[in-house]
Parts: sequence; structure tokens; C-alpha cells
Amino acid sequence: MPLTLTALLVSLTSALGQTAPLYEDMPKIDIHAHYFDDMPAFVEMLEQSNMKVVNICVFKNRPHMIELLHDRATALTKKYSPTMKFTCTFDLTRINDPDFVRLTTQWMDKQFDAGALMMKIWKEVGMEARMADGTLLMPDSELLDPIYAHLEKRGKPLIAHIGDPLEAWQPLDEKNIHAGYFTNHPEWHMYGKEGYPSHEELMEAYERMLAKHSNLTVIGAHLGSLSHDLDALGRRFERFPNFYVDVGARTGNLKWTDAQKVRAFFIKYQDRILYGLDQGAFSEGAPPSLEKQRTYSNAIDAAYRRDYEYYAGAKLDLPREVLEKFYYKNAEKILGKLE
Ligand SMILES: [Zn+2]
Repeated sequence: MPLTLTALLVSLTSALGQTAPLYEDMPKIDIHAHYFDDMPAFVEMLEQSNMKVVNICVFKNRPHMIELLHDRATALTKKYSPTMKFTCTFDLTRINDPDFVRLTTQWMDKQFDAGALMMKIWKEVGMEARMADGTLLMPDSELLDPIYAHLEKRGKPLIAHIGDPLEAWQPLDEKNIHAGYFTNHPEWHMYGKEGYPSHEELMEAYERMLAKHSNLTVIGAHLGSLSHDLDALGRRFERFPNFYVDVGARTGNLKWTDAQKVRAFFIKYQDRILYGLDQGAFSEGAPPSLEKQRTYSNAIDAAYRRDYEYYAGAKLDLPREVLEKFYYKNAEKILGKLE
């Protein structure tokens, strides 16, 4: 039997809990995005749904990409701010250059002057980038201390994707919830590989960096690579008042975790968790056609709405003030109002 409109509205209202605003009515910031194509139809979708995005530039070991992504991110910010903002990163091929610190801080200043809100370090630090002597550059390496200090001086947060979920160090069997990603990206699957740190060693280096730079605001991407253990993440929050996380690409992990546990965690650490989806678009040449933009917009809009249904819906039923902090107030506290 088809649902009447009233029945549909009643079921939607109850699915969203008593206090949660409708999706469009909630101001939202996706702190972890990678949209590098100029897609007016996509931006229109964002505007209509009250969503702002922060595009994070990545490096991906392709030095020519770094300028290209930053140029695109800057142009998109100019055109679509405050709906689109950006976060810079830096060139890891320069780590053995004696001028690394000077060149990198100069580059950072250029990006901050162009509007970059934060700086990103990715998992190459700790798992790929090597010093001239063959050792891996670790997140707590002395070489990076002046870079972190410069961020502190400029009042800019670091968004850090250090290591990977624990599943990167586990076999790709049916129990491995990240088997899909590591099957497609065997270069990051650490299980059985020699010459790389363990998950624990990376997390220890991460925490030594947090301890050394206690005045630097650090956002741990992907639940700080501790999605398998919310208790350990809670301990990190307790130890480091300068530490926050985003949920980029980890809402699925939370959905597989006991809902009562997730709810209690979000309430307890309501000032420390930020929303992010971690989706992206990048075309080498011309931007996608209008038709492709619309198809893409619909898919991303649906993903955003599925997330909202989880966080604001009956399953977690997060209090309104917790939801507001998660979706935009914590981000605005760290980054200032996006305008
Ligand atoms: Zn990402």
C-alpha cells in the first residue's frame, strides 16, 4: 500500500528524532573534502543544502600535482567562497633539500595569504617519504618541528592523516572491513611488509608530535586512525587538549560499532569531533559536462543525507547541541566563521 503524504512525513519526523532539524536547516561544514573540478551545478547543490566544504590539497607523490591542486583550490575558493574553502599541503620531495624549511614555510605563507585555512600532512609521512639515509620521515621527526612551529605562529591548524586504520596491518580476509580499499591500494597494505613501522609505532610517533606541539591545534583525519578503538581515541583526547578528529570515510566504521557506545562517545567528546565525508572530484582536463555534474551532485548529496540520517536519526539520536557542534560549531571554533 502506498504511503500517504502524512504517513511519510510522520515516519520521516520520527526517523530524524524529536529535536534534530531537517537536513537543509542544519548549517553544515564538510571539513574533509577533495573537490577540485569547477562544477557550478555541484556548488548549487551544496548551497541549497546548507553545506560548506573545505577542499584539502594532497600530494600523492606527484610533484607537478601540488601546484595544480593548489591553483585549482585557490580559484574555486575565490569563485565560491564561503561554500568552498581550502587547506594546503607541502612538497615532500624537498625533505632532503638543505633549504627544505625555508622553502616550505615560504610556500605555506603563500597559501595562507591565498586563503588556506589549515595545512595537511598525509600518511606518506611515516610510511613512504624517506630521508637521504633511507630511514622513513616520521611525524615526530625534528625536521618537521619548525614547520609545526610555523603553523602555530600563523595560528593555523594541522590536519593530520598519520598511519592508517589498524586493518592495514591485518590480512585481507572477510573479517577485514577495509579489505576493499587495501585491495585497490596494495601499496598501503602493510600486512607482512618489512621495513615499515607497526600501527602502534606510528600512533606513538603521532602522540609524541602532539606532546611536543601542545599549542598546535591538530585535527586527526579519519578518527585519528583509531576507528577500531574508541576507548583509545578517548584516551588521546584526554591526554591532548589540542587534539580533534574528523569522521571522514569512517562513518561506516561507526555504523558497525554499537550505537550506544558511539552515542556516549559523541556526547562525552562533543567539543572534539568534526564532520567530514572525504569524497573528491578531479579531472585532468576540462571540468565535467553539466550532465555529469548533476549525476555526481546527486550521488554526493545522497551520501551527505545518509550520513545525516545516521547522526541525526533515531539510531544515534544525538542531542541537538551535540549535532550542531559536530556539523559546524566545532569547525567554526577552530577555523573562525566561514565567510
Ligand atoms: Zn581525504
